[in-house]
Amino acid sequence: MLKTLAAAALCTILAMSGASAQSATNYPAQPITIVVPFSAGGPTDTVTRLVAQSMSKDLGQQVLVQNVGGAGGTLGAGQVADATADGYTLLLHHIGMSTAPTLYRSLAFDPLKDFTPIGLVTSVPMTLVARKDFEPTTMAELVDYLKTKGTDTTYANAGIGSASHLCGMLLQNALGVKMITVPYQGAAPAMTDIMGGQVDLLCDQTTNTTNQIKGGEVKAYAVTTPERLASLPDLPTTKESNLPALNVSVWHGLYGPAGLDPAIVAKLQASLAKALKDETVKARFAELGTAPATEAEATPDALRQTLTSQIELWRPIIQAAGEYAD
Ligand code: ASP
Repeated sequence: MLKTLAAAALCTILAMSGASAQSATNYPAQPITIVVPFSAGGPTDTVTRLVAQSMSKDLGQQVLVQNVGGAGGTLGAGQVADATADGYTLLLHHIGMSTAPTLYRSLAFDPLKDFTPIGLVTSVPMTLVARKDFEPTTMAELVDYLKTKGTDTTYANAGIGSASHLCGMLLQNALGVKMITVPYQGAAPAMTDIMGGQVDLLCDQTTNTTNQIKGGEVKAYAVTTPERLASLPDLPTTKESNLPALNVSVWHGLYGPAGLDPAIVAKLQASLAKALKDETVKARFAELGTAPATEAEATPDALRQTLTSQIELWRPIIQAAGEYAD
């Protein structure tokens, strides 16, 4: 009886490893879906669609994008943490993976344990923008304005755990004010309301603000990188504006659920690295004020290290701000 059971178990194990080897060899045999945990048309979506298009060509299978917005990116990330680890459901998420574990009192997933890192994708500068007719015209004027009227100012963000939320938190910390927060499912609808004049301020990635700044559809105050950007050379840095603490770039990474077959990870990593060298992707990234991750960065190890160190970096800053969500 025992022998029969042991033989059956062995057969199952052999069949499973055979199936896994088989699926890794044939991978991808069907379309792949990349979950973007924010709305369509926003910065994470823009980056993902550019990369997905290039990976589709390389992998010979459609790489589709599914937008699962809400709760600052944690809903979409949670969906991928629970997905089957077969390489057909992936996640492209940003810095929010490192802030969510501190911001959320109870989080349905562990960013370090429930995902398989594939590689870093890009790191996008942020810009502080406002509705066109918002009173302050320079960063110095904005600082003065917020110090006196900050509690009446509305600040749009993509929910607690989003990059726009983090940037707003840094601004509020630096000035010692609390604005009225207006959360959206992504930065795209937040930008629509900034352009429509329904909200006052937004800090968001250049991938979502460059065209609107250049087209004069929003008022821009500063960029959150230590140096000015080639794509927006007239925009001062936050450092130039005496706000050095408002220094943040939004790194993005590609993940699968935990337990992804290393052979599948290797295929996805190679395809990601190729996409990041694609001239069309590079040119579009440059227009939007960002640059692709380097070959060394577009690797599982680099993403794991970034995620680990960024969780440590942001924890005390978030704890000092005392801003949490359930
Ligand atoms: N990246 C944006 C944010 O975190 C959200 C989005 O991509 O729509 O604010």
